[in-house]
Amino acid sequence: MPAELRVAAEAARGFMPPDEGRALYDAGVAAAGAVPGAPLLEVGSYCGKSSVYLGAAARESGTVLVAVDHHRGSEENQPGWEWHEPDLVDPDLGVMDTLPTFRRTVYRAGVEPWVVALVGDSPTVGRFWTTPCALVFIDGGHGEEPASTDYRVWTPHVAPGGLLAIHDVFPDPADGGRPPYERIYLPALASGRFEDVSATGSLRVLRRVA
Ligand code: SAH
Ligand code: MG
Repeated sequence: MPAELRVAAEAARGFMPPDEGRALYDAGVAAAGAVPGAPLLEVGSYCGKSSVYLGAAARESGTVLVAVDHHRGSEENQPGWEWHEPDLVDPDLGVMDTLPTFRRTVYRAGVEPWVVALVGDSPTVGRFWTTPCALVFIDGGHGEEPASTDYRVWTPHVAPGGLLAIHDVFPDPADGGRPPYERIYLPALASGRFEDVSATGSLRVLRRVA
């Protein structure tokens, strides 16, 4: 990964450790090589940290990242929850708005031409999505229902030979919430459509085989 992009990604606001970010970048480049011409797509951008890693991979590979988020935060980002950041609340509306921070992050990193923000609810966007993707990265809502929905809606859009990346996969409940593991990772493997490729921290990468 080019050094200036790595520095920008590591400086970006968010919760992805550097080793997981670099693994995500590597997955993006590998996927774009395996499925030429297809876009990368992420569900859950927040302030744009993962978008810089995947936007860098898109830039390197001559494709684009489609970054899907309604920018209103997940359940766990709302006031009173563990992952709430009060300065991300729109003062006029009193609701979360991560889009301005996301745009600054992506612009500052120099990847804006390769990152297309799609602002909307993941299942609503998914209902109209038809383009096969080289890589789908799922890091949206981490509750049972949103994780199950993202599995159902987005995994069919991984092109054969493409990659599915999942963040915050914690097999041990002591390490964190279980839905990304139980509702996305395990069902993907059990479906026979995906095989394991790599694990870096809580990032899992699988390949679409059928
Ligand atoms: N990948 C990000 C972190 C994502 S946090 C990083 O690297 O920092 C989870 C994000 O999922 C939040 O920004 C939230 O707004 C988004 N999200 C949750 N449920 C969603 C839904 N139904 N539709 C669109 N975005 C959703
Ligand atoms: Mg995450």
